[in-house]
Amino acid sequence: MERTSLIGYIDTSNDLYLHAIRTMKKIIWTILFVVGGMLAIGIFLPTKIQNPVEGCGKESYNPKSFWHPWGDHKHRGIDIFAKKGTPVHPAIGGIVVATAHNKGAGGNCILVLSSGLRLHYYAHLSEIDTHAGAIVSRKSIIGKVGDTGNAKGKPAHLHYSIATIIPQGDWRWDPKFCTIFINPIKEME
Ligand SMILES: [Zn+2]
Repeated sequence: MERTSLIGYIDTSNDLYLHAIRTMKKIIWTILFVVGGMLAIGIFLPTKIQNPVEGCGKESYNPKSFWHPWGDHKHRGIDIFAKKGTPVHPAIGGIVVATAHNKGAGGNCILVLSSGLRLHYYAHLSEIDTHAGAIVSRKSIIGKVGDTGNAKGKPAHLHYSIATIIPQGDWRWDPKFCTIFINPIKEME
């Protein structure tokens, strides 16, 4: 009698065990699905960019400004010079993941996540015209060119950089941020 109940007990615990395994499998598949989806979006969607400063072309930046020595590190992006107040559009559409108002070296700055799992950084803005969570396209105005942060006292410009975790395009490894930075110049239309 006791043995039967013991077997019964073991059977019940086996059922629980199987149920837990099934739940765990469901969770793992969901995670794989979400991560896989993100990677698919990140890797397979186009990543072509435009010059983010309205009306600006190749004359607006130094073609060698990416990764030139900058103090004790490298210049991780490019500086696009324009009149203070010139509208800034996203180089490519995406979702605004963060904005910072007059903080640190970047001053007023914006981070936009796009395809390619790329983070686009727009800094030294005179004003921010978007907010975290906003979906933005190439036509949206996200801010205006300025001289905030460590650009104070220098000619107004947009510091623009692209960071990612997937090596792509003309990329450099940055040991300080443990991040890959992509040269935007070769990718601009
Ligand atoms: Zn810069």
